[in-house]
Amino acid sequence: MLSESTSFDRNGGNVTIPEMVEDALEVISQDEEYMKCVDIDTKINCVLCNWCGPGIVVDYHIQKIHENEIMKQLTNDWNITFTLGALVQEPLWCSRVLEYESIFYVLSAKYEEPDVFMATLTSHSTDFTFKTGSITVFNKTTGEPFTWEGEIKCLSPDWPYTKNISGLKINLSKLDLMPQIYPIAGQPGLNDVHIILFARLYN
Ligand SMILES: [Zn+2]
Repeated sequence: MLSESTSFDRNGGNVTIPEMVEDALEVISQDEEYMKCVDIDTKINCVLCNWCGPGIVVDYHIQKIHENEIMKQLTNDWNITFTLGALVQEPLWCSRVLEYESIFYVLSAKYEEPDVFMATLTSHSTDFTFKTGSITVFNKTTGEPFTWEGEIKCLSPDWPYTKNISGLKINLSKLDLMPQIYPIAGQPGLNDVHIILFARLYN
């Protein structure tokens, strides 16, 4: 019933301005000649799905397609859980989109064999207000904190293949997440191993 009424609304012309803008931009983005003229043909990968499109529409894409995945808060700090199972399965980065004061920030985490854990905080936007951020993760047993603090950079167009990423980089084994030292792909229980990242934005 809900989906019926939703499609009725759309057919009835009840489309919001951002949707109209996005639709228009998508039409424009099909026109390669035009895109070359205005030099906005740099394509960006969505951090949450396989979508790839012009950088100027990526915020609209996230708002429209990933509305329920956006982690919106009134305060400037988040605690975000990644499972070790997801990180071990993903050869690139696992990302979450954070929204603060109408700007999207991206918190990404990555595991590299055999013992590297990385996390980084970036933004899709070029005019974000909060230029500095921090990421902290705690040792599960001792509570020892591991923190990165630094400049929040723009997400590079070659994401998620970007080299030289600034952020937190530690040995995974320093977090004492599980009895053995290294995780093994396909090992049962990895989805129950949680890595909680505390991210914060500063002015
Ligand atoms: Zn997407």
